[in-house]
Amino acid sequence: MATLLEQYEQIVGTDVIDQLRQLAKLLGGKRIIHISSTKAGGGVAEILHRIIPLKHELGIDAVWETITGDADFFQCTKLMHNTLQGNRFDIPDYLLRHYEAVNRENAESLRGLLEEADVVFIHDPQPAAMIESMPARKGKWIWRCHIDVSSPYRPVWKYLRDFVRGYDASVWSLSEFAQRLPHPMYLIPPSIDPLSDKNIDLGPEELGKTYARWGLDPQRPIITQISRFDRFKDPLGVVRAYRLVKEFTPVQLILAGGGATDDPEGEEVFNEVKTSAGDDPDIHILLLPPDDNLTINALQRISDIILQKSTREGFGLTVTEALWKGKPVIGGDTGGIRLQVVNHHTGFLVNTPEGAALRIRYLLKRREKLEEMGQKAREFVRENFLITRHLREYLTLIFAVANETQDRIELL
Ligand code: UDP
Repeated sequence: MATLLEQYEQIVGTDVIDQLRQLAKLLGGKRIIHISSTKAGGGVAEILHRIIPLKHELGIDAVWETITGDADFFQCTKLMHNTLQGNRFDIPDYLLRHYEAVNRENAESLRGLLEEADVVFIHDPQPAAMIESMPARKGKWIWRCHIDVSSPYRPVWKYLRDFVRGYDASVWSLSEFAQRLPHPMYLIPPSIDPLSDKNIDLGPEELGKTYARWGLDPQRPIITQISRFDRFKDPLGVVRAYRLVKEFTPVQLILAGGGATDDPEGEEVFNEVKTSAGDDPDIHILLLPPDDNLTINALQRISDIILQKSTREGFGLTVTEALWKGKPVIGGDTGGIRLQVVNHHTGFLVNTPEGAALRIRYLLKRREKLEEMGQKAREFVRENFLITRHLREYLTLIFAVANETQDRIELL
């Protein structure tokens, strides 16, 4: 049985893996800690679940811990998330004080681990304030921002900035998101793991079962959006686009999603989507458990086109997952979707449900174009958005930050 690294080698080539081994050697003995707010649901958890074992395989001492919080805490951090992505809303003071208190409590319970670490990655705003409780930290602290902060509501960004400026460095997915800060800033887009259950190849039998399981008709086209039920993902816009297509083509729509334990708004949005879908038997709204990766994989593979009609998107792993499966993506012209959907090549960028409907109809009518785009899509991901590239950039970053004075890295 091939080791994990040998399996990656078959997908990305020997040089890429050799380089990872060389970089990992340079980091020998360093302890790296990642802190995020949930192990279940959303892109951050998705990435960490895969990148930590790969670090271990390379002999790197890496640990991932999550913080805990109550309903008020997650309400506050969801408001932060929404306002940092552009909604105008003043978060009440009592919630911000609570956010700080919960960060202090978490810092206390993780103190031993955090103070000893060589490099600490803090993911997103939820645990960002913990740094305040760590004046005696010996390692370097890096804030990793996964969300679209291209035009944040300023008062909320100013509040968060007071914590973030204390970090030794920050990492952003896109240059448009990076804010003015007094430390080195790095651009590292996320990635997917081609060997995970979410992305691994599936046989025809497995795919065949998927139609039956969800009551789908294999003879008619399927369009799909996989997303948490979140307004920024615009599920209502997806239903509208589907209806416009349906006037001409007997299409089926899958809206599959689940909650994330750090997202309290999901249920409300889910109910809005249900109401909007009414009793249309061709709209399949699926509420899936967060670890049902094989189902998501199969749903993406049996779809003709994948939609990600977000109005704000930090990166959009769902887009990467779809492109890797050779599916063109019709995505909102925003944030990280722009990095991945190369208009007319790997899919189409759209701004309205009408625009999305037009592109869906175009692709369903021109199958050869759909296939061609799908092939380009897969190669585009192989070149740019696989976990091996992501890890190479993280390891380089860790080395650069841990050895501040070095401006070049020599591989032996
Ligand atoms: N996802 C999932 N189940 C769901 C909905 C989403 O496993 O019901 C996964 C999806 O496949 C992707 C991740 O969660 O891997 C979502 O990441 P993305 O960057 O698209 O969005 P985020 O939720 O982080 O805003």
